[in-house]
Amino acid sequence: MAPNAPRTAFDHNKVTVVYVLGGPGAGKGTQCTKLSEDFDFCHLSAGDLLRAEQNRDGSQYGELIRTCIREGSIVPKEVTSKLLENAMAAEIQSRSGHRWPDGQGRFLIDGFPRKMDQALLFDEVVCPASLVIHFTTTEDVMLERLLERGKTSGREDDNIDSIRKRFRTYYEQTMPVIEHYSSLGKLEEIDSSKSIDTVYQETSVIIRKLLS
Ligand code: UDP
Ligand code: MG
Repeated sequence: MAPNAPRTAFDHNKVTVVYVLGGPGAGKGTQCTKLSEDFDFCHLSAGDLLRAEQNRDGSQYGELIRTCIREGSIVPKEVTSKLLENAMAAEIQSRSGHRWPDGQGRFLIDGFPRKMDQALLFDEVVCPASLVIHFTTTEDVMLERLLERGKTSGREDDNIDSIRKRFRTYYEQTMPVIEHYSSLGKLEEIDSSKSIDTVYQETSVIIRKLLS
């Protein structure tokens, strides 16, 4: 291997990874969906990948994932990291040659990494992030959005008990991740209290700067 060849699964010179973080209900998924339409990003939600794995026939992780999601705790890092890596590889293969030239790719990783051990593992083994976006708003705003979503989401964790636990996990486990990327100079914070379009305006400025 050449001395400077990347040891990660994907070469960060070709594959752009943006982590999108924020408390539950902060607006990560909504903003990622819009960005992926405008900038040819693939949007991967760690929570959605976990829910799909939980429901996959024959998965050995189904029960573990169900319990973690209900309790608002974090699934062991290897499981989520592998699900993301597999999804990235599949997407690169399927877009290669038409939308993304040779081995290149752009990913918005929504709701990950939520804990320091995941951040270190993914950056080291899969692909280091180019940028980390943190959507910030108040707990009241997040709570209101989650309870509203809970009316139709069918999600087992959009209830008041799980929501309280998710807030706690966010403060205790995810905030150190935010601080870590801030100290690396990779963090952009956006106040997501305002309307979807206003927040999107600000977010797209940051993404344009990254891609220029
Ligand atoms: N989760 C996890 N590891 C991750 C991402 C999510 O264990 O890297 C679990 C965790 O229990 C979390 C739940 O999945 O509370 C739901 O995550 P999701 O991102 O869907 O929630 P959101 O922030 O969008 O409300
Ligand atoms: Mg989400």
